[in-house]
Amino acid sequence: MIPTILPTYNRAPLTFTRGEGSWLVADDGQRYLDLAAGIAVNALGHAHPALVAALTEQAGRLWHVSNLYRIPEQERLADLLVDRTFADTVFFTNSGTESCELAVKMARKNWHEQGQPDRTRILAFEGAFHGRSSAAIAAAGSEKMTKGYAPLLPGFTQLGWGDHEALKKAMREADVGAVIVEPVQGEGGIRPLPDACLKGLRDLCDETGVLMILDEVQCGMGRTGRLFAHEWAGIAPDILMVAKGIGGGFPLGAVLATEAAASAMTAGSHGSTYGGNPLACAVGAAVMEIVATEAFLSEVNRKAALLRQGLEGLVASHPKVFESVRGAGLMLGLKCALPNTEVLSAAYAQHLLTVPAADNLIRLLPALNIPDADIAEALTRLERTATALTPT
Ligand SMILES: *Cc1c(COP(=O)(O)O)cnc(C)c1O
Repeated sequence: MIPTILPTYNRAPLTFTRGEGSWLVADDGQRYLDLAAGIAVNALGHAHPALVAALTEQAGRLWHVSNLYRIPEQERLADLLVDRTFADTVFFTNSGTESCELAVKMARKNWHEQGQPDRTRILAFEGAFHGRSSAAIAAAGSEKMTKGYAPLLPGFTQLGWGDHEALKKAMREADVGAVIVEPVQGEGGIRPLPDACLKGLRDLCDETGVLMILDEVQCGMGRTGRLFAHEWAGIAPDILMVAKGIGGGFPLGAVLATEAAASAMTAGSHGSTYGGNPLACAVGAAVMEIVATEAFLSEVNRKAALLRQGLEGLVASHPKVFESVRGAGLMLGLKCALPNTEVLSAAYAQHLLTVPAADNLIRLLPALNIPDADIAEALTRLERTATALTPT
């Protein structure tokens, strides 16, 4: 018999009823150290007082009004984002997938309005993850995500990660309107795009007019130690997809864009019932006020160095379990020498939560404000995990 919950997830037999900072408390009272953070969603950990205050204050006043009216909480969050980024304008969504949808629509509408309606094709990369909608799975193109869902939406081409020649050739083809890429691939195995590649891609976009869409749903909002990962390369996209961390656990996403890229999006061209509702935006503004400060981001970088150094040590002392460390900031991957599912389960036994990723990785995506003591505790638990997995 089919379970009452559609069985699209392989769930661990764990039930959490409470969260505090980087800790989750299970229904049996056991505490788990959370390096999953809802897959990079709980950017400030669980039950952060400033977020609880923002949410409850807004909940007592106004939950939802339609986008038929002005929404001050939404305008405030848009101003915070525009002040702090390349963007001139913002549309709020409820998820990363919806941000992908709008990014794709915006790129195509742009070329339509520019009198080049054939520039519909969007280049994407092998290993990419942009969400679960029909457009997002067509963009990613992998067998795993698309099998059985034919016919796939046309208009997407996947290129090999690091295949510069194929990219240069494809970018100059007449029907290409945009390229979409994660500065650090998440699901695809914590693969950071080198700054030089991002710069090179920006140059190619400038030369050809192809719009650059960056998907920072996972790597954005302070995760890599800058507010957005592309800042490390000193470049800016035309369109930026945001979600996950921006709501700190409340469903919220956004598409940020330059005036030029967004100019075709006029009244009636796109919409969302819930996107930008007062509750989500009140929380999003509270997240931005904390995360988008130099003091906070420099702490993220310090904590990231601390964690990374500890992980390098683990790789050195347990080569039969861990092969290498990679990633950026607090978006780190441990490549496993054993099946990553075994390492994940062994870590559960040490009451440590991590996330699997492609290429046999476990992902560490702690809260950006994880206390140093919890980083040390995580390293201790990973050490115990490795010891438990090492044949004697
Ligand atoms: C999670 C994720 C998405 C999809 O976000 P949802 O909120 O699950 O729809 C898109 N892109 C990237 C890079 C992601 O990590």
